Amino acid sequence: MHFLVVEDEVRLADLIVQYLRESGHTAEVCHDGPSGLEAARDPRVDAVVMDVMLPGMDGVQVCRTLRREGSDVPVVLLTARSAINERVAGLDAGADDYLVKPFALEELSARLRAVSRRRPALGSRLEVGDLVLDPDERRAWRAGTELDLSRREFAVLEILMENAGWVVTRTRLLEEAWDGEADLHSNAIDVHISKLRSKIDKPFGRASITTLRGTGYRLETRS
Ligand code: CA
Repeated sequence: MHFLVVEDEVRLADLIVQYLRESGHTAEVCHDGPSGLEAARDPRVDAVVMDVMLPGMDGVQVCRTLRREGSDVPVVLLTARSAINERVAGLDAGADDYLVKPFALEELSARLRAVSRRRPALGSRLEVGDLVLDPDERRAWRAGTELDLSRREFAVLEILMENAGWVVTRTRLLEEAWDGEADLHSNAIDVHISKLRSKIDKPFGRASITTLRGTGYRLETRS
């Protein structure tokens, strides 16, 4: 995913950008309101992390302007601990969520994932690189070649694609693809991931599913 970070505290901005890049995303940064607004109009931006107190134009105004222009880009506002009115104003202005400073970067990543998932997709098709999945038709393709997937493999791929670039925990896969039927210690997940790799990666010379030992899996956005 591609994120925009609007924050005038350069150190914090750098920290967020670095974290997002290490998580496999791309990110750009602006240090004031007007340039943040300009950058947020770019349709390639998937979500915005924006401080409320900014030089030139505050984050609430930037958000309100974007919504007035018809933009539905997800926005997470960063607010000061004491500023309850800022949070209310931010949500009123169309922000999707807010985070109180100081915050853990893991928390920011969780919020970004949540608001990005809420954004209505253009059609229901999922696309990650040259992987395409159509949930309605129950069909999937890699580089234009249709993939022959079992129902369960399809469900696992769908969850991984919805969360591309993010870690999907084994627990979550069990809940969503197995409806909690298989138990966490069975090797059902490993078996299905292995089958999935043999269908979506190996024939195409890719390695797009990363195993995070003991935690889960991540579908890489670049592979
Ligand atoms: Ca600030």
